Amino acid sequence: MDQADSAAARRDLAFHLHPSTNLALVQAEGPLVISRGEGVYVYDEAGNRYIEGMAGLWCAGLGFSEKRLAEAAYRQMLALPFYHSFSGKVPAISTELAEKLVGVAPEGMGRVFFANSGSEANDSAVKLAWYYNNALGRPDKKKLISRRKAYHGVTVASASLTGLAFAHSDWDLPAPRFLHAETPHHWRGARPGESEEAYAQRLADELERLILAEGPDTVAAFFAEPVMGAGGVLVPPATYFERVQQVLGKYDVLMIADEVICGFGRTGNMFGSQTFGIRPDVITCAKMMTSGYQPMSAMMVSQRIYSVLEDQSRKLGVFGHGFTYSGHPVPAAVALETLAIYEERDLLAHVRRVAPVLQEGLRAMADHPMVGEARGVGLIGAWELVRDKATKAGFDPKAAVGAQFVRNAQRRGAILRVLPGDIIAFSPPLVIEEHELRELLAHAAGALDETWQWVK
Ligand code: PLP
Repeated sequence: MDQADSAAARRDLAFHLHPSTNLALVQAEGPLVISRGEGVYVYDEAGNRYIEGMAGLWCAGLGFSEKRLAEAAYRQMLALPFYHSFSGKVPAISTELAEKLVGVAPEGMGRVFFANSGSEANDSAVKLAWYYNNALGRPDKKKLISRRKAYHGVTVASASLTGLAFAHSDWDLPAPRFLHAETPHHWRGARPGESEEAYAQRLADELERLILAEGPDTVAAFFAEPVMGAGGVLVPPATYFERVQQVLGKYDVLMIADEVICGFGRTGNMFGSQTFGIRPDVITCAKMMTSGYQPMSAMMVSQRIYSVLEDQSRKLGVFGHGFTYSGHPVPAAVALETLAIYEERDLLAHVRRVAPVLQEGLRAMADHPMVGEARGVGLIGAWELVRDKATKAGFDPKAAVGAQFVRNAQRRGAILRVLPGDIIAFSPPLVIEEHELRELLAHAAGALDETWQWVK
């Protein structure tokens, strides 16, 4: 069957408004319609098989056919398909999940607020930072600092946190109060001969200057992904978060860790904060919490922050923030089952065992004429494609070299994703086995050579 001619493709082209897509291009080329999944593979309508090198959107940690998650959802649907958590009511299963999350979270987290997406969790964290400072009688302490190239979502507040042009241009964003600090990327940002530690110190000094210039009494929170995902899979330089936290501590600025990608094992620990020595006041997480099988996110806060919220709600009569589906019982049941499977199968140990295959495989191509940098940690990695390795100059964006790579990989049977700047991202399901990683890398290496021939 020709993909572009299937009934689903025709319906898609006629009726669907795609998220985060070049709408004109999909209209011209047609969509890839995926109809089923099995392990780390998905299949299109014609039966072609693809190894899913991105776990969908960094989320299907358990792959695409974990029956226990379907059964957990079904059982919960029969028992209690919906209930809410407003005004003192709560589905029993959501309380179980809240306890479980606090149990697996880095030290210091005491309470869990549920939402439906990473964007909503980050929006909630922005509002929390404002509400918290109002409650403490600091009405001017409201500015948020994130980093250029950060990705925190696409709602008005989370897109404002995001530091990528596509989230701002023509969207009239970022909103006031949102500031962006420098991207921590040693390979591109460091001066010649500057060590990772010296570079990290320089970035922390710059952050301190920014806070001082704005006025410490006006800065509420710093948002950071442990590894920056959609901005290019940027692993922080050594000591970066240690230095940053010293600055935040000095000026009473909240550290908010966006663990939407890193949370639940991606970097080899349960949370990226543990991998990089971050001591967050607030954590947002989503994606692999349910292995992507149900939409759900969470914002976790320390008991100290929670106490401030509780006092304020006593004064105001309500903590006036929440979604109809906050703590929805069906995704809660799926999340609990997901976390149970992660533990039973000791998935963190599995990630640590197989991660070297991915990391060494990516770095083995670092000599390729088009690979500027091969990087990553755990089961997340990237190739940054460049036109000139000596100057690190990238390709003309109009040439869409990364998109061509993705097409070539797809034809070979691998789904990978291009990020802005012709960066090829790898973020496979956590359950991936060594031989499957080798298959993914072989397809990627073939696609790289093919793309190089096309560029030349
Ligand atoms: N934060 C990070 C680090 C993300 O990677 C994403 C999505 O990819 C989000 C937030 C937004 O999550 P969602 O798409 O569920 O709103």
